[in-house]
Order: sequence, then structure tokens, then C-alpha cells
Amino acid sequence: MRLLLFGPPGVGKGTQATLLKEEYKIPHISTGDILRQAVAEETELGLEAKKYMDKGELVPDEVMIGLVREVFNSPLCEKGFILDGFPRTVAQAEALDRVFSELSIELDAVIDFQVEENEIITRLSKRLTCRSCKSIFNTLVDSLDQNGSCPNCGGELYQRDDDKPDVVKQRLQVYNQSTMPVREYYQKSGKLVTINGSGDIDKVNKQILDAIQELNKQ
Ligand code: AMP
Repeated sequence: MRLLLFGPPGVGKGTQATLLKEEYKIPHISTGDILRQAVAEETELGLEAKKYMDKGELVPDEVMIGLVREVFNSPLCEKGFILDGFPRTVAQAEALDRVFSELSIELDAVIDFQVEENEIITRLSKRLTCRSCKSIFNTLVDSLDQNGSCPNCGGELYQRDDDKPDVVKQRLQVYNQSTMPVREYYQKSGKLVTINGSGDIDKVNKQILDAIQELNKQ
């Protein structure tokens, strides 16, 4: 199964990726997670990426395309993948197509998450992430311990710097300007399935699984 999760920040791509990863036993490739890891390790990539991430801006295409090319040229994605956070520009989408064509890979589906902007802003302001296992929680709906540890692994829960209100505004603006055109790009491919990302996690997951099943019948 080769899936691409598409949509603005805060629509539940990471949460659904965790469920899909279990369902299909394939890796979750999140470019945001890769970059955050590089920032934490203070690698050259991390130091460069941090300048953009802190401001809610996109890391330059050349850097991202090189990174994704490396991931797909490794054995990691041989049995399938859930790609999340890439492509975010039309240039990235075109580059991804080139990589896929070189490796004779075809996407099964592009899952397009739709959530109202007000809900996105509320969700992001209440989002906590685990430093260890990367699980995502929302203080509005998840019952969490006072001590701020992850219910799944006991790791430290924290609010991402770029989930703070000013940066969120910028990230949504960047999405509307640079990433929205990518939706049209995939719409033309016939692989784009739009799902309603509001509401219950399991219901959203069922919509995705049903949509994939429908596409597979075609
Ligand atoms: P995410 O975790 O997907 O919300 O990504 C966090 C941040 O990482 C973004 O706001 C960007 O600064 C950077 N980033 C992640 N993926 C990409 C990408 N495909 N292109 C450019 N920047 C990216």
C-alpha cells in the first residue's frame, strides 16, 4: 500500500498515519518528524531547517527533494509507505513523480483531509506531542495525567514551538499559498479522495479505509 496524506497542519494526518501504519504494516514517513529529529540532533540539515520551521515557513525545495529522494532510495519503503507532509509545493510533487517513475512506484491513493480552519486553529493550540514515541494528543479530548507524561510510553509531552498561535497563522497562510495548488495536481491524477477530517478518530479512519477499498475495486 502506497499512500500519501494531504492537507493543512492539524487535520489529523499524523494521528491517522499511526492507525494506517498498524493496519497495513508499512512505515510512516513524515518529513516534519524527520526534520524535527534532525533539529534535535543538531545535524547540518537540522540547523538549516530550524530557521524555516521556527517561522512556520517551508524548508527550501532542493533540501526537501534531496531528503525524500534518499528515503525512497533506501530499502525502508520497499513494502509500501504512508507519506505525510510531502509534497508541499508543485515543484516537490513533480520531483516526487520523477523519483517514483525512476523506481517504478505508483501511489494507490492520495487522502485529502478537510477540516474547517477554526477547528484547525483550536486543535493545534491544544496539541501535545510525545518526544519519545511521537504520539499526538489533544488536551480537549484526551484525558492526560497532571505530570505531563505520555500515556503510551511515559515520554515527555510537549507543545511544538510551531503550534504557538503566531506560527500557526503563518503555517496556514503558507499552506493556502504554496500547498493548495498541489491538491489540484493530484486531483488530475484521479487518485485524490477527499475525506471529512472532523470528528471521531475511528470514524475518520473508517472513511479512509472505505475510500481505499473503493479505489482498489476500480
Ligand atoms: P509538519 O510536522 O508536517 O507540520 O512540518 C513541520 C515543519 O517542517 C513545516 O512547517 C515546515 O517548516 C517543515 N516541513 C515539513 N515538510 C516539509 C516539506 N515537504 N517542504 C518544506 N518544509 C517542510
